[in-house]
Amino acid sequence: MTVSIPFDNTFARLPSAFYTRQAPQPVTTPHLLAYNAELAGNLKISDRDPVALAEVFSGNQMPVGAEPLAQLYAGHQFGHFNPQLGDGRAVLLGEVVGRDGIRRDLQLKGSGRTPYSRNGDGRAWLGPVLREYVVSEAMHALGIPTTRALAAVATGETVWRETGLPGAVLTRVAQSHLRVGTFQVFAARGDTESLKTLTEYALQRHFPAAQGPMGLLRAVRDAQVDLIASWLSVGFIHGVMNTDNSSIVGETIDYGPCAFMDVYHPQRVFSSIDQMGRYAYANQPDIAVWNLAQLATALIQQYDAPETVVEEATEIVHAMPGLIQARRRQCFAAKIGISNVQDNDESLIRDLLQHMSDAKLDFTNTFRSLCDNAQCPDIPHAWQERWHRRIANEPDAIQGMQRVNPVFIPRNHVIEEMITAAVAGDLRPFERLSQVLKAPFEEQPDAEDLRQPPTSTQEVKATFCGT
Ligand code: AMP
Ligand code: MG
Repeated sequence: MTVSIPFDNTFARLPSAFYTRQAPQPVTTPHLLAYNAELAGNLKISDRDPVALAEVFSGNQMPVGAEPLAQLYAGHQFGHFNPQLGDGRAVLLGEVVGRDGIRRDLQLKGSGRTPYSRNGDGRAWLGPVLREYVVSEAMHALGIPTTRALAAVATGETVWRETGLPGAVLTRVAQSHLRVGTFQVFAARGDTESLKTLTEYALQRHFPAAQGPMGLLRAVRDAQVDLIASWLSVGFIHGVMNTDNSSIVGETIDYGPCAFMDVYHPQRVFSSIDQMGRYAYANQPDIAVWNLAQLATALIQQYDAPETVVEEATEIVHAMPGLIQARRRQCFAAKIGISNVQDNDESLIRDLLQHMSDAKLDFTNTFRSLCDNAQCPDIPHAWQERWHRRIANEPDAIQGMQRVNPVFIPRNHVIEEMITAAVAGDLRPFERLSQVLKAPFEEQPDAEDLRQPPTSTQEVKATFCGT
């Protein structure tokens, strides 16, 4: 018995320059660890047999209609251009148009070597697979655009990092895997034909109302503006905002050394390899602009006379910081109950954040306590008076705040503990965390422990890229 998936593939119809056809490498003893039945329902996948699901979502068995391939892309990694990356440990199985009418990629991650693996083993271990499963699903529940997790399968094989670790495969679902780097690879090669084809494809698939390369650039910018402001508003730090990890449709993608902040600190960094703090929390807007500039640079190369669009492209990119700033202000205003944001609300927000930073307050719990009590003992009286005056005419301030200030976020130390348990064979913490994070804005009295910031011994200082 196999699993039936209603594939309807378009990327596989593009010219062969865009990918290499590549089957997943079989694994010894696949075992289904987690399955997202709600997402499967939207994707019109109804099989429930865990053995059959494990066969398919480990890559051991290809469902009818799958056309596995590894996508080609390039990328700026920590500012340095790598002219060729590509899916080094992932294969796209194909696409499904969901019940919601949206086309999505189904991709196996950790499915073995591909022509783009370089020195890598093409595999993933259980820790990052469960981390991505939990954090991407939490992101979705928070209402932030993101790739999603359909399945996690243990391979029964050992993956070697610093030590031997249990292997796993994640099935990732995304509106697409088109990245800034997907455009860069053809620009770097001077392959304008492929650039044009890709631009047309991206417009049709994601932004049918937009026109031409500059229309695409503007649409990607607007999607990224919303995404970055959303990240900031929940204290999320992506950690590796390389151009190959920057989805053009504006979904959060590639959960490596990412984390939600506990204590608010604008220069907080998690990735152990980000020594310069390039991808620190407060740098994310600048980096998104930098990444968009790389997309602009790639896109203009498809014009016969690129110099004629430089001005327009520059304008589109230069407008981005202001747009992020405005959207961020709107998000933070909403966090303190303001719906009709005004310019001078910025100082109210800034003073609150400054105090949180000085007093080393927990980002998530401080905002939530404001909306639960409409006053928070940790916040200076003077600020609270100003704030109360400001929201006096906001009838639904508290309800509004409860809708945007989560009770639960996937805290880094909780994830680490969940992974440790899973490696020891205990999936209960993973299942409990997943369940609680489905309703992040609701009080859940049985889960008070998951709200607590880490103690000094629990605190995770850095997340290693060793994925
Ligand atoms: P990432 O930092 O996860 O975005 O990965 C950057 C590049 O390295 C991508 O081309 C990945 O496919 C590739 N890569 C990461 N880990 C591995 C691995 N274990 N084996 C092969 N390629 C990998
Ligand atoms: Mg990546």
